[in-house]
Amino acid sequence: MTEDRVSAWGASRFARPGTGWADIGRGLAEAAESVTAHHHGAPLPAGDPVSVLAAVTESLGGPGIPDSGIGESEALSRLARLVAEYGLDLTHPLTAAHLQPAPLSVAVAADALASATNASLDTYDSGPATLALETWTVRSLARMAGFGEQAGGVFSPGGSISNLLALMIARDHTAARRGIDVRHDGVGALRRPVVFCSRVAHFSVHRACAALGLGESAVIPVEVDSHHRIVPEALEAAIRQAGDVTPLAIVATAGTTDFGTVDPLPEIADIAERHEIWLHVDAAYGFGTLFSDRLSGLLTGVDRADSVTLDLHKVGWQPAAASLMLLSDANRFVSLNRSVAYLNPDDDVEAGYSGLLGQTLQTTRRPDVLKVAATLMAYGRRELGGMLERCNDLAVYAEQRVATELQLELIAPVTLTTIVFRYRCADLDAVNGELRRRLIADGKALIGRTQVRVPGEDEPRTCLKLTLLNPETSESDIDDLFDELLRLAIEVESENASASSDQAHSEEMVRVSE
Ligand SMILES: *Cc1c(COP(=O)(O)O)cnc(C)c1O
Repeated sequence: MTEDRVSAWGASRFARPGTGWADIGRGLAEAAESVTAHHHGAPLPAGDPVSVLAAVTESLGGPGIPDSGIGESEALSRLARLVAEYGLDLTHPLTAAHLQPAPLSVAVAADALASATNASLDTYDSGPATLALETWTVRSLARMAGFGEQAGGVFSPGGSISNLLALMIARDHTAARRGIDVRHDGVGALRRPVVFCSRVAHFSVHRACAALGLGESAVIPVEVDSHHRIVPEALEAAIRQAGDVTPLAIVATAGTTDFGTVDPLPEIADIAERHEIWLHVDAAYGFGTLFSDRLSGLLTGVDRADSVTLDLHKVGWQPAAASLMLLSDANRFVSLNRSVAYLNPDDDVEAGYSGLLGQTLQTTRRPDVLKVAATLMAYGRRELGGMLERCNDLAVYAEQRVATELQLELIAPVTLTTIVFRYRCADLDAVNGELRRRLIADGKALIGRTQVRVPGEDEPRTCLKLTLLNPETSESDIDDLFDELLRLAIEVESENASASSDQAHSEEMVRVSE
């Protein structure tokens, strides 16, 4: 072993039980001190993006790897300071832009445990404990979804990848039923493969189709109702009108990213069954409702899906990534199966040494399950459900506040934990967009934005969005946010008005001088 140690850390540089773990504890404690001392106390650092990014780059010095290091403690403290001064604070009560929650401390600690053991999941000898734990957790979540004993599933690096995986398995399964081996022959052997989903389905569905060699044009978008949910009759009609195609899947969304609305799963399941089409439910956002007795009814029918995407790094308060793709029948993983001489040769598999290599597109795979299992054990279903219900209450509170403000217009009512609204004014896009940027730059709040076509208007317009995933936010925080927003809106509107009158004035001058 080399002895050129640069700090007082223990006898080993590795996460060795004993000394190594003491160092991890010390490193985290030192980083925690640095974060506490330096955090900016706002959702994002105040200032414009160019100066904030420049400040970070400057504090790092010119690019280049140092010849000799500064030691573990110093490196961690510096980085902790950097993320505290210039990072995002998801625990701030007015951080409410995206489906990106503050992570639970217990999950973060368990995630460090996952890093320290650095197990993988491809074979028995890459880590038996986490292998069994993943199987246990997948079964537990599949049971919560209402799936039977033959269900399976796998952790993935995010909802986008879970959707890709599900559509790949749907493609291969559908092809196999028609006697086509896509894995060997490619998608050229399929006759016009298509995927049906709602107009407001997540863009990862389109990307998945591109990645699977189907092309984004394979996506057939289906009409939605005024609540942004698939109209079952429109789905039925789209399937009939598609003609001589190979339908690979219907993708239903359970929790649209902007509105939290859920496609009518029982009706869609009936249609899928009637036409013998694979049903995938993208419940990246909405799956967590199953923790709550009050909200779980929204997902009625999810047990009839062939595959489900869920993201516990959204409703689940996990550090990313904590996504899963569940299958109602684990046998359908068959097209992903691989036999690799140095990983899972047949005699090893027979002797019980296999792992989960055959259920993913990955080889080395991080045991994201540890933090999820820690959370499920620590809080149980009821406490997690309570957290979601609290966020739902906050969204309803925000909705009521919007209803009482003449200057604000509610664009979509609350289903889960988001609310979409806009500031009423002449220049909707410019003012609402600037309003959000100003809240960020002032360090006041981080809210979201999107575009919605409102009935009676020709084009989608910029709207504001709150994604409320912090159960520790209070009603008075929500009120503070709207007070500040309304104050800034008047400021932005009057600036815009004077800017446009200046412009009108100078255009007038140009005309005069011409
Ligand atoms: C967030 C989201 C995804 C993508 O998940 P990532 O984990 O961000 O990759 C897919 N579908 C829906 C409905 C989502 O809200």
